[in-house]
Amino acid sequence: MPSYVPALPDVIRYTWWGDVPEGLFTKTDLDRQGFKPGSDPVGQVLYHGNSYAPLYEAAKAVPKRTCSPAQRAVLDRARELQYQCRRCGVRRHYPLGRGRWCEPCSYTAALYADHAKARQFARELVDDLDAVLLVVGAGPGECASPETIAVIRVHDQELLHAGEAGTYGTAERQAALDRLDKILEGCRVVHETDRGPVSRYPSILVTPPGQPVSSERDSLHTWLRPHRENVGKADCVTRLWRQWFAWTRDECSSMASEPWDWDCGTTLAWEQTTQAAADGQMMAALLQRIADGTEPVWERAAWTVDGHGIPAV
Ligand SMILES: [Zn+2]
Repeated sequence: MPSYVPALPDVIRYTWWGDVPEGLFTKTDLDRQGFKPGSDPVGQVLYHGNSYAPLYEAAKAVPKRTCSPAQRAVLDRARELQYQCRRCGVRRHYPLGRGRWCEPCSYTAALYADHAKARQFARELVDDLDAVLLVVGAGPGECASPETIAVIRVHDQELLHAGEAGTYGTAERQAALDRLDKILEGCRVVHETDRGPVSRYPSILVTPPGQPVSSERDSLHTWLRPHRENVGKADCVTRLWRQWFAWTRDECSSMASEPWDWDCGTTLAWEQTTQAAADGQMMAALLQRIADGTEPVWERAAWTVDGHGIPAV
C-alpha cells in the first residue's frame, strides 16, 4: 500500500472496519483468496488515520488467473472427483479429502492394513525356530481351574511338552512351573489370548485360587508375558487371528474383534477345552494357515473379492 491513499470522491466512506458491510473486501483481501476486483469500488475504509482503502464487492470478484478451456476442464474434473470415492465410486455431497475414500472404504482399507500385517507377523512366527506356543487348558469360564499345560513349536507344530497343571501350592504345580522354566528358556513365547478367559492365561498358574490375575507376579517367570516386540505387537494367537479374520460389529468400524454372538459368546477358530495339547496344535496349524494366506476371512471383509482392499485406481 502506498503511504497515503486519498479518499475517492463520491464513494461511501467508512471510518472503521466495524462499519463495513459484509461482502465488501479490499484488493488485498481478494488477492489472498485468489480473486481480483470485478467492478468499481463501492465503498472505502479509513486506515492509518489518513488513508482510504477502496472496497469491492466479493460477489463480483473474478479469479485472478484465467485458464484455457482445457485447463478449466481438468480443474472441473478434479473438483468433481473430490466427491467421488476412488474405491467404490460412491458419490458424496461433500469433498472426501485426502485419499478420496468414502467412510466404509477407508475403514476397509484400515482393516486390510492390519490384516496384511497379521499375515506378515504370522510368517515371522512360523519361520522362527524359537517361537513356541504356551497353552493352558481349562474348562469354560473365567473361574475354571487350569488342568493341563502344553508347549508346541510353531514352526513344525511339534508338541514339545504336555502335562498336568497340578493344583496351586502343591509339589505337582511347582514341578510344572520348573519344567516350563526349563523348556521355555530362550524361546519366543506365544500366548493364546489377550482377551480372556483368564483361566487360560499362563499367569493363572502362579495365581492363588480366588485371587485376581495380576501383572505383579509377571516377574516370577519370563514366560508369564508373551514375547513383545513393541506396544502394538505382542505374540497372542487371538490378536493375530482377529486381525486376520477382520470381523467388525458393523461396517463403520476399523477395529477388528473376535466375532461375537449374543447367544453363544465369542466364536474362535479353535476349541478351548481342558486339553491344552489338542487346542494348541489347532492354534499352531491356524498360524500356519494365516501365514500361507489360506485361512478364510470374514465374508464381509471385502478385499477377498475386490483386489485386497487396494483401490483400483
Ligand atoms: Zn467407497
